[in-house]
Amino acid sequence: MLTKILLSEDQLPKQWYNIIPDMPGQMAPVIHPVTMQPVTPDDLLPLFPMGLIEQEVSQERWIDIPEEVREIYKLWRPSPMFRAHKLEKALGTPAKIYYKYEGVSPAGSHKPNTAVPQAYYNKIAGTKRIASETGAGQWGSSIAMACQLFGLKCTVYMVKVSYGQKPYRKSMMQLWGAEVFPSPSNRTSAGRAILAKDPDNQGSLGIAISEAVEDAATHEDTRYSLGSVLNHVCMHQTIIGLEAKEQLKIAGDYPDVVIGCHGGGSNFAGIAFPFVSDKANGKEVRLLAVEPASCPTLTKGIYAFDYGDTAKMAPISRMYTLGHDFMPPGIHAGGLRYHGASPLVSQLVHEGIVETRAVPQIACFEAAVLFARTESIIPAPESSHAIRGAIDEALLAKEEGKERVILFNLSGHGHVDMAAYDAYLNNELQDYEYPEDAIKESLSHLPKVG
Ligand SMILES: *Cc1c(COP(=O)(O)O)cnc(C)c1O
Repeated sequence: MLTKILLSEDQLPKQWYNIIPDMPGQMAPVIHPVTMQPVTPDDLLPLFPMGLIEQEVSQERWIDIPEEVREIYKLWRPSPMFRAHKLEKALGTPAKIYYKYEGVSPAGSHKPNTAVPQAYYNKIAGTKRIASETGAGQWGSSIAMACQLFGLKCTVYMVKVSYGQKPYRKSMMQLWGAEVFPSPSNRTSAGRAILAKDPDNQGSLGIAISEAVEDAATHEDTRYSLGSVLNHVCMHQTIIGLEAKEQLKIAGDYPDVVIGCHGGGSNFAGIAFPFVSDKANGKEVRLLAVEPASCPTLTKGIYAFDYGDTAKMAPISRMYTLGHDFMPPGIHAGGLRYHGASPLVSQLVHEGIVETRAVPQIACFEAAVLFARTESIIPAPESSHAIRGAIDEALLAKEEGKERVILFNLSGHGHVDMAAYDAYLNNELQDYEYPEDAIKESLSHLPKVG
């Protein structure tokens, strides 16, 4: 009985899959937040190295993974795929459940898959330092690790409330050589302006993005880096789905449904995009993005132009959004609390190619606990949304008496999130109401484009 499906190092993909040339229909332009005109590559040069800007708009379907990046990927890739025999048995389902496990990376999630190439393209462009932001710390720790590998300095603005509540991810960043500041900080004019009004401000991802962008834009040797949402980030993550396809071939299966949790869209894109072209070529495969009911961007947001950040400094993209000033409730899946979504994933949802589902917090923890008690891996709270989605599909298969092949991405482990599990085990977790009024309010502040 096949449990663990492994690829050898020389089977590590040599190229990423760029979905842009295969997108159905025209892609909307990205709009400059000040001029309100389409963004040009030159507009982006103060923030990103040319190598990444080119990837952001590339029409090439396959993009070579640089040898230096492949060598580092080999520290944890190809990542394993597992058949969830024990979970299947516990559910009594005729479905076969496979999961790709990205928690084997040094930072414990899929995020190093893009942090490493981002650091690489910065290094070869002469960047000396990367400035970025982090909420709960998964992205901050991944970019810190990648900068360390390429000898770049790294500055992370960490949302103040998380800086206090998640001390271990801060320690990971510092261990990997990054300097970490609670945001809002007094290092930027954006941060100082907020502190002047409200010295106890606990920060938000939107504020931290503004600080990191300002830091990069005002220092010649510094560039900015983002851990999700952007086209090049989604493309780097396709290594997950490309490997998964090879692994399923070894198992002699092809998925009926591919599932990922959805925050900004990158790990979902990673597992799902390589299957989109199969679907276009007539294969019957469903693609399902699962998000938290308390931050229901894809299921309750609208498809419109909106700012990427709260402070309206980031470019305006056409995407599903809850409004750039929407403040989601404080669920434990911190990585899924984003008002917007990847423009690529959004367009696929809009075209009906990707299905979406929103799930409440407690149902996700129930799924995570069942998973930990059967498959033994303790999942990240974010990943538990994908597990919930997979379990529900498996239970449906049972009801219908159908053998189905389910593939999901286990985006990370939860070893640094045990406070969340403590809260669940002590019955302290709550489900949040769908924040209808707050969403209605923030959706009334969208920018007018065109
Ligand atoms: C950041 C994170 C996510 C959400 O980000 P996406 O860009 O939507 O993938 C999901 N899972 C884990 C473990 C994360 O760290």
